Amino acid sequence: MRESRPPALGDPVTRLSGVGPRRAADLSRLGVTTVADLLTLWPRRHRDRSRITPIPQLQAGGVYNVVGTVREVRVQPHLGHDVTAHVYLRDGGGELDVLFFHARYLARSLPVGSRLWLSGRVDRRGPRLVMVHPEWEQLDESSPSRGVLPVYPLAGELSQRWLRSLMERVVPTYAPQVVDAMPAHVRQAWDLPSRAWALQHLHFPDDADDAERARTRLVLDEALVLTVGVQWLRQRAVGGATGRPLAPNGPLAQRFREGLPFALTAGQASAWAEVAADLGRSAPMARLLQGDVGVGKTILAILACLAAVDAGQQAAFMAPTELLASQHAAVLDEWLGPLGVSVGLVAGSDGSRRTTRGQLEAGHIDVAVGTQALVQEGVQFDRLALVVVDEQHRFGVRQRSELASKGTYPHLLVMTATPIPRSLALTVYGDLELSRIAGHPPGRRPVATRRVSRRERRHVYQEVLDAVRRGEQAFVVCPFVDPSESSDAKSAVQVYEGMRTLPGWRVGLLHGRLPAAAKTEVMAAFRARTLDVLVATTIVEVGVDVPNATVMVVEDADRFGLAELHQLRGRVGRGTEPGRCILVADPTGEDAEARLTALVECQDGFELAERDLAIRGPGEVLGLRQHGVAGFGLTHPTQDVHRLQEAQRMARRLLDQDPDLRRPENAALRSAVLVALGEALPSTVLH
Ligand code: ADP
Ligand code: MG
Repeated sequence: MRESRPPALGDPVTRLSGVGPRRAADLSRLGVTTVADLLTLWPRRHRDRSRITPIPQLQAGGVYNVVGTVREVRVQPHLGHDVTAHVYLRDGGGELDVLFFHARYLARSLPVGSRLWLSGRVDRRGPRLVMVHPEWEQLDESSPSRGVLPVYPLAGELSQRWLRSLMERVVPTYAPQVVDAMPAHVRQAWDLPSRAWALQHLHFPDDADDAERARTRLVLDEALVLTVGVQWLRQRAVGGATGRPLAPNGPLAQRFREGLPFALTAGQASAWAEVAADLGRSAPMARLLQGDVGVGKTILAILACLAAVDAGQQAAFMAPTELLASQHAAVLDEWLGPLGVSVGLVAGSDGSRRTTRGQLEAGHIDVAVGTQALVQEGVQFDRLALVVVDEQHRFGVRQRSELASKGTYPHLLVMTATPIPRSLALTVYGDLELSRIAGHPPGRRPVATRRVSRRERRHVYQEVLDAVRRGEQAFVVCPFVDPSESSDAKSAVQVYEGMRTLPGWRVGLLHGRLPAAAKTEVMAAFRARTLDVLVATTIVEVGVDVPNATVMVVEDADRFGLAELHQLRGRVGRGTEPGRCILVADPTGEDAEARLTALVECQDGFELAERDLAIRGPGEVLGLRQHGVAGFGLTHPTQDVHRLQEAQRMARRLLDQDPDLRRPENAALRSAVLVALGEALPSTVLH
């Protein structure tokens, strides 16, 4: 008898008829294991099949939807296993040729007489019209007459048709059973549909307006839960806490500014005014400093550190990797050592780490530089009053909660080249104020960027040699240090060995595994122009400043991230001669293709970052996934900005009336928030 109980929302998908272990395995690759998961397997888009054009009305150059019957399929084999399928399609009034490439599977599964729906561009070939590799679907007798259909992400051997028919069974049955966490009074006040209606109509809308209304409701659900959660955490982290007022523009900062070989740009000065105002207060600062690569964020971070030291406190300066931390430490030491400020690197071997830790605890170090481990792995500070986080977004409310649980409420300055929209920052961080540095230091020019195929590598190196003969210098950046067996990507060692034997080159090698002294020596030689070419890994991504370097070659550029590549090209063209960046790659994936195109087309780091968000999504770019922020599946980080703002208004109104959501009508939302946070948080934060 128990077997015949209808499957419940929380049951595995295998309890649904027609879903066996193989399909369940494919579904699990899409993140679906339970019946409930199917409801939030969001369509990637919808296909509007309502407008069909009869074949006789097609014109070359137009894009159309066509429905017809297969009259004949001819298969043309190629070398290897590839085939091209030539399909002759007929509707009541005419005939259309359709070409499919890589069509082995399709050629087998398209019998004469089957009905097809096609969408694509029509071209003329001689007297006939053809559609080349259109989107297509096989229709059967029972194919719904409805116009708008969902298009789902697929995995393994799942087909669009099968998944859609599964959804047609599951969504109407189970959508009404889901808990609607949005309180009814909020729903009424904002005039929103129920969650059940929204689920049903996001999957199967009657028209575009329907789909939009459904999507709005579901995005607001995600954003509301997240916003309330982050507000609660913030309350725990800094609610009413007081930190220590620092001393911005104290004597050390003044001496530092007098020693700078340049004046702050207007953008730096106005951002610094905002930071300095915060630092002078006892309420802990929480500020996100945004500015494109090369605008000069580091100077402001140093000024902030000096505000701490001038107030007799300590600062922690954190970088995303140990390598970058050690570079920052060197830069900071160079600037601050002469002022009598002690800079300590907490990284590397256990021995030196222990010594530095000891000095930190004893209060001998003014500015500690390291990775996030600096505030996480139980490192104790004597009097920590400022945390600076460079180029990463993973330091958010959660980490602050951890610090707070140790009784520490430092000022926080997060620096990033990613233009996180304000409403997204508010949702994710809850409490960061935003400052933006506009405008670059004087004299910067765009770096001409182009991409070449690996076959053309020889010409690239000829170009490098020409530059060297003119007395300029070049970087060659490779994705790996050593050659690897698992990939044919270029390694720095390989390229270096290949170049250094050739006459006319003075070549150096720089990567993270060299001993610190060797790194410094190579860098110094390159700066002193006793080397022409520096073959390196991304170790040169930040902090390297060699004005005579004009050419940046990036080998296997498809293996780097967009932000990384933009940082890399920022290393050249910093002097009087314009810079060039050559990306060597034969990308295979769509994402890599999109990244390289973006780089060639666009010089503006903020625009690039927005494109990066669009390509990879906020989970990856902002580290939300690692950050543990779940449930951001439907919301688009930039297109949904106004919806995020709406959710913030909702949350504010709710929490004003019922700060802990203790009222019965808010109980479902309270549980949803606790579930969302539960996975993300250390147990110390939530009781
Ligand atoms: P980012 O914002 O990418 O972190 P950096 O802080 O590394 O940029 O600064 C990039 C370069 O610009 C450094 O060499 C720095 O010394 C220089 N710089 C910073 N501010 C100015 C300025 N106001 N005028 C001229 N050069 C500056
Ligand atoms: Mg920087």
